[in-house]
Amino acid sequence: MSSEENTPPRPGQLVFAGPRRAKPPRHLADLTVAERREAVVALGEKPFRADQLSRHYFDRLVDDPAEMPDLSKALREKLVPELLPRLLDPVRELACDGGDTHKTVWKAFDGVLFESVLMRYPDRVTMCVSSQAGCGMNCPFCATGQAGLTRNLSTAEIVEQVAAGQRALNQGRVAGGPGRVSNIVFMGMGEPLANYKAVLGAVRRITEPAPAGLGISQRGVTVSTVGLVPAIEKLTAEGLSVRLAVSLHAPDDELRDTLVPINTRWKVREVLDAAWGYARKTGRRVSIEYALIKDVNDQAWRADLLGRLLKGKLVHVNLIPLNPTPGSKWTASRPEDEREFVRRLAEHGVAVTVRDTRGREIDGACGQLAAAVKA
Ligand code: SAH
Repeated sequence: MSSEENTPPRPGQLVFAGPRRAKPPRHLADLTVAERREAVVALGEKPFRADQLSRHYFDRLVDDPAEMPDLSKALREKLVPELLPRLLDPVRELACDGGDTHKTVWKAFDGVLFESVLMRYPDRVTMCVSSQAGCGMNCPFCATGQAGLTRNLSTAEIVEQVAAGQRALNQGRVAGGPGRVSNIVFMGMGEPLANYKAVLGAVRRITEPAPAGLGISQRGVTVSTVGLVPAIEKLTAEGLSVRLAVSLHAPDDELRDTLVPINTRWKVREVLDAAWGYARKTGRRVSIEYALIKDVNDQAWRADLLGRLLKGKLVHVNLIPLNPTPGSKWTASRPEDEREFVRRLAEHGVAVTVRDTRGREIDGACGQLAAAVKA
């Protein structure tokens, strides 16, 4: 990596485009069904070959040519490198919570590193995926934000994180035996709506029924954002039924300007209006993410202010005990302050839960991903 990329962003600096870099190789998962056929035809083969490849990748989750008996050796040798190039190499795998939480550090074709986390619960399997290597949004409490943006991930690099998780389940590499990935949260590294096109492609690929895609329900997918208002409006118009999560972290602009610097561009009011527009269109509860930081945003009056802003809306608040980043002066709220915060929100009739803290000991908890890779 060049020294430029290692320079931390200046306080308040927002970065929407990373340094120019080579694009990841084209992959089947980047393409629609029609585009896959076109690509195969452009290589001089019959369109149905694309469907065969799609069944291997999306239905069977196979990308090893040796496991594609319906394709001749010559065809495999021609099509697989072109349409199923190896995109990600696991460089580190860690498990905790009795084997129910698995983190993988991935290395892409150009050496950039990012992570995904698989979390197994009694009733579901959730995968937390990265949408960018690094992040340009510069939130001071988030480890990823401290390192700046390296580059956007491609659609296929996002989809491959999910495919790899499903393969691990299929192959019995996750405690508890086989199972299906049922939920996807875009809460790994990166700001998904700053990489809109690739993320939307990934949402479509993840949710289209096999062999077009992985066949996970749109209702099980959550896109989490700092609040890029025009992108939220664009997402609203897509006609999807994925869940929207907004990382609010403060109900007042004065504090939010410092915790989520994009707030200097789009204020609390505008972000929430965009969120309510999304809820109206989709009929889905918006999730408000709020990391409770001791003596910073956890005061009773802020709980009341938040309660007044959210009262009567199609909303659910997810309180996250702050996961302190190395060297940070901030820490999680006192238990009594957390309880009081919950109580006051509930008093306003606002649905609220405190998020579990899966993955802490393997730096797999939110905001810790980048720090773990660099260590
Ligand atoms: N950029 C997206 C997704 C990233 S992370 C977004 O901001 O929504 C997913 C969630 O984890 C966000 O709500 C983010 O604010 C939160 N988060 C980041 N660092 C954290 C930390 N150290 N402790 C608790 N939550 C954190």
